[in-house]
Amino acid sequence: MFDFMDMGFDEPGEPIESGPYIPDAAECMRCGMCISSCPTFRLFQIDEETPRRRIRTISKILVENLPTSAEERVHLDNCLQCRACETVCPSRMAYGQLFDQAQARLKVNVSWLAKLAFRLIEKKRWRTRLMPLLAVYLKSGLQKPLRRSGLLKKMHLADAEVLLDKPALQALAACYPASVTPFGRVALFTGCVAEHFDRETLLVAIKLLNAIGYEVLVPPQQGCCGAIHQHNGQSVAGLIDNNIAVFNALDVDAVLHTATGCGAMLSEYQSDDGKAAELFRQRLYDINDFLLEHWPDDLQLTASTLKVAVHEPCSQRNVLKNQQAVYALLQKIPGLSIAALADNHICCGTGGSYMLTHPDNAGQLRDLKQQIISATYADVVVSGNFGCAVYLNGYPETTIRVEHPLVLLAGQLPL
Ligand code: SF4
Ligand code: SF4
Repeated sequence: MFDFMDMGFDEPGEPIESGPYIPDAAECMRCGMCISSCPTFRLFQIDEETPRRRIRTISKILVENLPTSAEERVHLDNCLQCRACETVCPSRMAYGQLFDQAQARLKVNVSWLAKLAFRLIEKKRWRTRLMPLLAVYLKSGLQKPLRRSGLLKKMHLADAEVLLDKPALQALAACYPASVTPFGRVALFTGCVAEHFDRETLLVAIKLLNAIGYEVLVPPQQGCCGAIHQHNGQSVAGLIDNNIAVFNALDVDAVLHTATGCGAMLSEYQSDDGKAAELFRQRLYDINDFLLEHWPDDLQLTASTLKVAVHEPCSQRNVLKNQQAVYALLQKIPGLSIAALADNHICCGTGGSYMLTHPDNAGQLRDLKQQIISATYADVVVSGNFGCAVYLNGYPETTIRVEHPLVLLAGQLPL
């Protein structure tokens, strides 16, 4: 049990001189309403694995400047950063911000492999040069023996390897003109890993936008959104400022993202240049919202009798909060049977890079999600987050494929 009443705040919510201001930390009422939404409590069933205990640890790090035990840091590190606790908290605790501040303060030691991964996702030129080598690896027949050797598992790369399914080696074009009389122009955020490994979603997004009368720009200078860096205590100012500068320089009606994990990060961009960050956020849309808002009355999709289950990624439910747009868009397909997955509030285990850093915890959550998916007898599951789709599709015994909702929509465009 802990108490925030004696933490040194003069007034609830006011900063104290010894540390940074934590938004609303003093407002935690210890009510416990966050506990049942927390995936790690679902797994471990102990108080140490609850949001309110983590907030206590965070306040020690950020406000009280007290030492934390190794055990406390392990429990903090077990957090998936799904932010389900934020959504249900009556005090609207800014858990995501608190966690990121604590990670940055702790200066978490990352392995050389993680450092290499951070650099790879930051440096577009490095990634582009690496792609042909990946293609050689995929053709070489080395995948099976390498998997059997257990080396990938030992290096926590077994789940990452499923990303190598269909890498795109060529860059996207810089401009895709509208296929009907143009109404306007938008820019597409392509992400870092998704740019190469989720090309299908990006191409169908462009196809749909062109079909509703929008020219699509894909600025090659854009970079990683920074989400994985930020959640691992790494500096993100450079990545943020680059994306803000690149997209703000474009004469477009909107900047669109297709992956909710990136979208959640982009939607919370802050910068020393506050006006530039605000302009960026003002023009930012989740593609589902944009399509819904700009769908032409005369564009009819062809019918489908598929049974679809909707997975709601944590980044969509707890940050973007626009999951209803997915259902509304899918209803444009006549005949489609659409239902929400049960327990959508519980994370599937992906958690950005969590599936790589905490494979056992993530694996147990994926098992739970897969049991729910199997029970739906759906033909397809849709998810607006690339990371979740990859991780769920990597489940060994899965028979129901997870796709981006845009893939279904684009597949029903009239010829
Ligand atoms: S729901 Fe909010 S106020 Fe209640 S214990 Fe959790 S973090 Fe604290
Ligand atoms: S962010 Fe998710 S995993 Fe972390 S404490 Fe909140 S509910 Fe639990």
